[in-house]
Amino acid sequence: MKQVLRAQVEKRPSVQKARPLEAALRRSGHLRTVAETLGEEAVPIVQYLKGKKNISEFKIADSIRAEVNSVRKMLYAMQNSNLVSYYRKKDRQKGWYISYWTLKPENFDYLALATKAQRLQQLRERLHKEEANQGLFYICPQLDVRLEFDKAAEISFKCPECGATLQHQDNVKTIEQLKGKISELEGKK
Ligand SMILES: [Zn+2]
Repeated sequence: MKQVLRAQVEKRPSVQKARPLEAALRRSGHLRTVAETLGEEAVPIVQYLKGKKNISEFKIADSIRAEVNSVRKMLYAMQNSNLVSYYRKKDRQKGWYISYWTLKPENFDYLALATKAQRLQQLRERLHKEEANQGLFYICPQLDVRLEFDKAAEISFKCPECGATLQHQDNVKTIEQLKGKISELEGKK
């Protein structure tokens, strides 16, 4: 998944101007996208780095009260998605290398777009499957399983979890819901 995201992020046209840093992150949608694609732990890092430049991983970890190793791991994951840049510099006193990190706010828009495109694709595939099997779904009364006709027939319409007889499920509502989600997402910027 990260591979796909990265490919899409990198495909952005180079002529596009970077938006001002604050504007790019002001919308909470970006933080939600970050949480969904990289995990909740990325959110405080993004919030902390907002408006700053070249901050060492130690300072970041200290400021958000997290372990430096987990912060570093997350920063590299963010770098994989092209959301941060860094440079390494040897610390003269300590004798080891320290990385200094800066957000690439212009790329948050592309991450959001790539995430949306991926979600839309998943929903369309699901819709296609529901439409191709319309009226052919069987479901456990306790919702343990939901199967297409062929698979339900294979197990003689008995739930493998609880043994109850599977019931025919009209999936018209599911189809409607999927269509609704798709058009809602398509309409969102
Ligand atoms: Zn069951």
